[in-house]
Amino acid sequence: MADSSPVGRHPLRWAVVGCALAALAGCESLVRMGRDDQPPVATVSPPPLPGKAGAQRVSQFVFYSDTPLKQNAPLFAELSRLRDQVFHDLQLPPSNTVIQVYLFDDQDKYERYMRYRYPELPKRRAFFVAHPGTPGGPRELLVFTFWGDHLRQDLRHELTHALLNSVLKDVPLWLDEGLAEYYELPPERNGVNALHVDALARGGWVPDLAALERLEQVQQMGRPQYQEAWGWVHLMLRGSPQARQVLLTYLQQLREPAPPGPLLPRLREVYPAPADALARHMARLDAPAATLRPVVDRR
Ligand SMILES: [Zn+2]
Repeated sequence: MADSSPVGRHPLRWAVVGCALAALAGCESLVRMGRDDQPPVATVSPPPLPGKAGAQRVSQFVFYSDTPLKQNAPLFAELSRLRDQVFHDLQLPPSNTVIQVYLFDDQDKYERYMRYRYPELPKRRAFFVAHPGTPGGPRELLVFTFWGDHLRQDLRHELTHALLNSVLKDVPLWLDEGLAEYYELPPERNGVNALHVDALARGGWVPDLAALERLEQVQQMGRPQYQEAWGWVHLMLRGSPQARQVLLTYLQQLREPAPPGPLLPRLREVYPAPADALARHMARLDAPAATLRPVVDRR
């Protein structure tokens, strides 16, 4: 891992993307810093990164752990398929930029390292961090977490962030989190997050994509914003071929240096009343079965 300061395309200092929900469900974040930021001043010897058992390359990922890793572990095969699924679903060109994944033996060792290396970050189960890398070269994409009960879901979430950031110039916060929430679920769930469906079905919720698109820092995102971001992503990926195309086209534009602007006006070309379309889509979701009920023509 490089000791260079993390940097993103935004001139933000220690802006953390992607971990507000972690306080509730445990997840992740992306760190973006301005180029003038400096690493934390070392006052004690740094806690070690895991890696005594060597490095294990799996697909685009390199895993480091003190616990020996089995090359044929089912989790590795699943994460390899996750990469293929993300790039295939979203019609993005596969990247070979290495994503380094540090698996600490326990939460204490992980938290001690994170407190030392990223003292500004909140306490979370896992993080995705982007470092600038060498001038002109790819960014260094790093994931930190620890062996535990949530490892599978946390890795799927963080690695989705890393995969998106390996091929896109920029990923709007709401979309980054919506896609990570979508892909963190096991493949058999078809992106249906039962907890989110239940929460959204309870009502008292007014979808507002324009408001979501204005969010720039993860501290502005609470559980409702994560749930809604997931909902918009699910609507676009599963609601209709036209809505899916809106997302796919938008993602292609996010590969370009110039930001494409908000997505909402493009979605309105498919759904003149997007909030109503999202509410209808949520009502059709059968969370336990992870399926969509057939559309009933009421006319
Ligand atoms: Zn996230």
